[in-house]
Amino acid sequence: MKAINPTSGELIRTYEAHSEKGAEKIINSVDKAWQSWRSVPFRNRSALMLNMASLLRSERDRLALLITLEMGKVLRESKAEIEKCAWVCEYYAENAESFLQNEPISTEFKQSYISFQPLGTILAVMPWNFPFWQVFRFAAPTLMAGNTVVLKHASNVPGCALAIEELFREAGFPDNAFRSLLIDGKKVESLIAHPAIKAVTLTGSTPAGRSVASAAGRWLKKSVLELGGSDPYLILEDANLDEAARICAASRLLNAGQSCIAAKRFIVIESIFDEFSRRFTTRMKEAVYGDPCHEETTLGPMARRELRDELHDQVIASVKQGAVILTGGMIPDQTGAFYPPTILSKVKPGMPAYQEELFGPVAALISARNEKQAVEIANDTSFGLGAAVFTRDVERGRWLAEEKLQAGSCFVNDMVKSDPRLPFGGINESGFGRELSVFGIREFVNIKTVAIR
Ligand code: NAP
Repeated sequence: MKAINPTSGELIRTYEAHSEKGAEKIINSVDKAWQSWRSVPFRNRSALMLNMASLLRSERDRLALLITLEMGKVLRESKAEIEKCAWVCEYYAENAESFLQNEPISTEFKQSYISFQPLGTILAVMPWNFPFWQVFRFAAPTLMAGNTVVLKHASNVPGCALAIEELFREAGFPDNAFRSLLIDGKKVESLIAHPAIKAVTLTGSTPAGRSVASAAGRWLKKSVLELGGSDPYLILEDANLDEAARICAASRLLNAGQSCIAAKRFIVIESIFDEFSRRFTTRMKEAVYGDPCHEETTLGPMARRELRDELHDQVIASVKQGAVILTGGMIPDQTGAFYPPTILSKVKPGMPAYQEELFGPVAALISARNEKQAVEIANDTSFGLGAAVFTRDVERGRWLAEEKLQAGSCFVNDMVKSDPRLPFGGINESGFGRELSVFGIREFVNIKTVAIR
């Protein structure tokens, strides 16, 4: 397995992948670790999770550099990612026990209640775009619930996968409570089939989600899927246009546009379309792109050259169907997987920019006659991860967010964000199940009924 620096195109290191036998041995040892981890009291699990939070903070700079070297994220954002991992560890260290308290139910029995019991070893298939955060937001609640974890990380971040495994050991977790497998995505089905794997979670693209969901179905294992999105942001005629333009550009460019909940389609009411697109273009052009390790850089390279080339193909295909480039849209003549901030205007149904996920720094501007049509366009998608509305009328925004927009998270006057305290996940082709909050920790437990006569 090769880790390649997307900024320079240079090979960082080659890693030996696990053989099928090697993977099986690891899964068995993680399952064995579960036999004792399941009965470790909450206060001890919490203490280890707090150790992990401190370790992440003290090792922040080293880990952030590893992220940046393997997938190109701007170093400042990599540091913030590590801080956020520490936060989710603390959050579940403090709340897991109350989230999983027995719940009494009043019935004719002498006693009846719900008990939340761990399931066993959970397989996590994770993407490279937030190589630490995606893992920790699943692993912190899952371990706190008394499960153990086998991670199959994306093939382009093997260094991150092994560093996370090592961190769990250093924080004092039992040796096999968390293990990483270096294995290709095509071999995931055989892992799901393993009798010790009780459930699987995948964060990644919709095609990978289909494949994991069908394998999970075949082997009758519970699955949670966090998939792609084409998040619509509605800019209404009464919006604060300066604020909206600033937030929309920040959301589109974060992590070089490679975030599942990045704003992707900007649906703007006709009467303010030109004004918004002028301000938005100014904001997008402000991005300073270059070496992600440099202090002043705000936009690094994409994670892999072929992903950059696929994004460019979507831009070109959209332009052939009538979209107009307001800025960017050209592969720069430089080493590395760079792509400039790009805006496509006159985006219409049928174009890749309208119906596919653009996983990079490319924004699609779509004009709508009025609020009703804006909502129709927003919901005219196979996805349903996040959505946002910009309006000065907070009640109008709230109503649209709650009642009208079809997505797992709807924000008003801000970009969609993940937060340990708020449930996170999608509907339709953006997946099913939830991470974070009380809902995340209850995904991989046996919700057991106990009734005593
Ligand atoms: P990806 O190609 O689907 O890969 C994600 C993970 O799935 C990797 O570990 C990959 O392994 C594995 N994989 C790929 N094909 C598979 C298959 N057929 N069966 C089983 N596993 C398979 O996605 P990505 O390019 O890494 O990440 C970008 C996608 O993730 C975007 O669509 C983005 O929106 C989505 N995402 C969603 C969320 C969310 O919370 N909803 C968060 C972040 C990202 P290999 O690397 O070995 O191929």
